[in-house]
Amino acid sequence: MQYIKNYINGELVEPISKNYIDNYDPSRGNVYSYIPDSDEQDVELAYSAANAAFHEWSNTPKDVRSKYLLKIAELIEKNLDKLALAESLDNGKPLKLAKLVDIPRAAHNFNFYGTGILHYAAHAHSMEDSAINYTLRQAVGVAGCISPWNLPLYLFTWKIAPALAAGCTVVAKPSEITPMTAYLLSEICMEAGLPKGVLNIVHGLGGKVGNAIVSHKNIPLISFTGGTVTGKQIASIAAPMFKKLSLELGGKNPNIIFADCDYEKMLHTTINSSFQNQGQICLCGSRIFVERGLYEKFKNDFVALTKKLVVGAPLDDKTRVGAVVSKPHMEKVLSYIELAQKEGGKILCGGKRKILEGEFAEGYYIEPTVIEGLPYNCRTNQEEIFGPVVTIMPFDTEEEVLSMANSVVYGLASTVWTEHLTRAHRMAANIHAGIVWINCWLMRDLRTPFGGVKASGVGREGGFEAFDFFTEPKNVCIKLK
Ligand code: NDP
Repeated sequence: MQYIKNYINGELVEPISKNYIDNYDPSRGNVYSYIPDSDEQDVELAYSAANAAFHEWSNTPKDVRSKYLLKIAELIEKNLDKLALAESLDNGKPLKLAKLVDIPRAAHNFNFYGTGILHYAAHAHSMEDSAINYTLRQAVGVAGCISPWNLPLYLFTWKIAPALAAGCTVVAKPSEITPMTAYLLSEICMEAGLPKGVLNIVHGLGGKVGNAIVSHKNIPLISFTGGTVTGKQIASIAAPMFKKLSLELGGKNPNIIFADCDYEKMLHTTINSSFQNQGQICLCGSRIFVERGLYEKFKNDFVALTKKLVVGAPLDDKTRVGAVVSKPHMEKVLSYIELAQKEGGKILCGGKRKILEGEFAEGYYIEPTVIEGLPYNCRTNQEEIFGPVVTIMPFDTEEEVLSMANSVVYGLASTVWTEHLTRAHRMAANIHAGIVWINCWLMRDLRTPFGGVKASGVGREGGFEAFDFFTEPKNVCIKLK
């Protein structure tokens, strides 16, 4: 069986402890490889390599840094099939989705930031003829980047690419649950000739490796995507050390459907926004509010379409819903379905683990589940489930639906379906969320600010916002007379 290695100082190395952790194939429920159980000693090695590389990398001309990133993008594209297969096996997501979304987006992240840095400019402020101020934008230092398991390579590269483009060197930790494509990325970086120490990838547990990165006294900046509880823990360590922090956390996103919407477009997009990637996208709309006049029709059509979704092995071309990522996660999602019933919810479809045949019988599959009859403020409707489970609720007025939509601690994304122009603008202005999609879902322009409000996070990623994060502005004032 394969043993994954850390990528430190340009080389693939074993963890110092020589200890490994089991890596599961969620589609079959068996161990299929091993990942380093690294600890703070490995993080220290990675930090030393990143620190030694920082001066040269941050002073490397932007166009040279850009070329390395573009080369990495090219190699990701060249290895699309291999990476997509690895992602699907490691995560349980349909291979088709990995090929269509995850891996192309990982390449795009490197392309986007590799070219974006060439256009990034700082400001100058003239004080008429007495002085001029200009802003120097300098790479912050060694960046700590920590990412989750749901979109493994996609989100890992979303952090690493802007950090490297901005001139930071990086110590990164992918999720211990889905390490494989990050490992393959180390091989790609070696093939691209990325100078040693510029990017270092340390595999292992959050409590050990993640914690060692966050609490490292010389890593001045942490970019983290993951759960809100982990984010809070990270903030409590990093804030008193005055680290720069970007926290992209959980969500409980509303999908608000008015009776005047373009019905067919809404219905098919809502199937995707509910169940794509087994509902394990932080941007999925898990609370569906439907204007009362449309409620019964929507309910019948939506449930009928949901029942048709093929739950199956990730490599099967017909599969729309693959395996959820792990056994503990499957159990967590199923426990929320149980809770929903205790809270008075009625299961309209799904509601159970799905047992496939043959070699996939031990895999972690859940039937796509639609629940109705729950109050907006019960736990099922307030807590993040992060699986193929949605609730539907009727509403009567804009004011009512806004207050229900905004009642959660989260504020990441939202979707509004209406053909009423001014209502669309009113809703957009009043929803508590970092992103509002009107008559669409998951349309992403990488130049836009990405992030959440309230317990969904702090800071913004995307476009030049990411470069602002990975650089420190310094004001230089020159007296002219
Ligand atoms: P976790 O918070 O459990 O883990 C995220 C990463 O942090 C993993 O690499 C994890 O390692 C690591 N980690 C865990 N504990 C610590 C610690 N104490 N110190 C430092 N690092 C630690 O999230 P999940 O992986 O379960 O991801 C799902 C969550 O991510 C959901 O809440 C989802 O909404 C959110 N998310 C948010 C997005 C956004 O853009 N806002 C996008 C995608 C997901 P390990 O795997 O070993 O535990």
